[in-house]
Amino acid sequence: MSLAHLSPALRRIAASPTTAMTDRATQLREEGRDVISLSVGEPDFATPAHVLDAAKAALDGGQTKYTPVTGTLKLKQAAALHFRRDLALTVAPESVIVTAGGKQAIFEALVATVGPGDEVIVPSPWWVSYPQMVRFAGGEVVPLVTLAQRGFRFDPAELEALITPRTRWLLLNSPGNPTGAVFPEALLRGIGEVLRRHPQVLVLSDDIYAPLIYTGAPHATLAAVCPDLADRICTVSGVSKSHAMTGFRIGVATGPAWLIEAMGRLQSNACGNPASISQAAAVAAFEGPQEFLGEWREVFRRRRDTVVAAINAIPGLSTPVPDGAFYCFIDAAPLMDRFGGDDGALALHLLEHGVAVVAASAFGGQGGFRISFAADEAVLAEAMRRIAAALA
Ligand code: GLU
Repeated sequence: MSLAHLSPALRRIAASPTTAMTDRATQLREEGRDVISLSVGEPDFATPAHVLDAAKAALDGGQTKYTPVTGTLKLKQAAALHFRRDLALTVAPESVIVTAGGKQAIFEALVATVGPGDEVIVPSPWWVSYPQMVRFAGGEVVPLVTLAQRGFRFDPAELEALITPRTRWLLLNSPGNPTGAVFPEALLRGIGEVLRRHPQVLVLSDDIYAPLIYTGAPHATLAAVCPDLADRICTVSGVSKSHAMTGFRIGVATGPAWLIEAMGRLQSNACGNPASISQAAAVAAFEGPQEFLGEWREVFRRRRDTVVAAINAIPGLSTPVPDGAFYCFIDAAPLMDRFGGDDGALALHLLEHGVAVVAASAFGGQGGFRISFAADEAVLAEAMRRIAAALA
């Protein structure tokens, strides 16, 4: 066997840079090195006790067999409650698909619909896996470049200028990874106006960070702001970020019946149902108390403020204040000469100094890196000290 055996689809993609860097950090730690990992977006909080209890009860109750491929009715009902309560979307349980993490939902939606010649508009900086998924499906990524100076937002006219008859999807992610940009309702209305003129365009709205907005503004999602467009919007959510359940691997998506059916068709042949125990835990997450989210958000906001101040105090680094999610997208342009203009080399240099981060170029940016501030304050303080020392 050799690389020559790889399919054209696989040759078009690389391993996920976020998970690759995190695996590398874990490996170094296992070898005894002292490495702080800020490379992955994963809340450090313990999964809430009522969620763990539900998982244990499912195990003890023998829920260890197959479930329906697209998820249990109980979880679809709980997800419908979540979509209504948290995203203002009225959704029937039958129009929900449960997946192994939000990532799988996005992959399925794209692979089910994108083929050679299709274009997918992706605002950049983007989450690392969006372009890889598009390329895997055979489509072409059309970057919609956004800038820090403009809050990493775009003008609806900039979107419209990129739409062609081959445009298949627009991907939206607010609050966004890696920038933390939040799209206000007015921007979504503007996007909706553009989309009404281009009925061939579907929209994937990745709302996985919805509970994490620090400005006090309510979360807005396109299908709720423009309900007349809902029949071409796939909205993705989950429990990984909101309930510190990354390892459970549960995502949920809703959208037009034909798309949800197509995603289920793919899932039935690829992996079958998401883990039964995880589904039971996710029911408890959606149906159980949500008050802790406000406390977690407050903790994240404090960490954000501390980290932003620390980064901006390091010569050569700067970051805007992210309005949501738990990442800082850091500009290191003044330092890039030292690294031959390669921010991958900068990331490796920081790893050598005991902090794992992900290079901005992995996100379609340049000359910088992303950190996650979903780590405890003492860990973050030590990481900032190491970064400052590494770049001094
Ligand atoms: N979405 C998270 C991140 O960007 C988890 C890792 C991944 O799947 O990329 O860090």
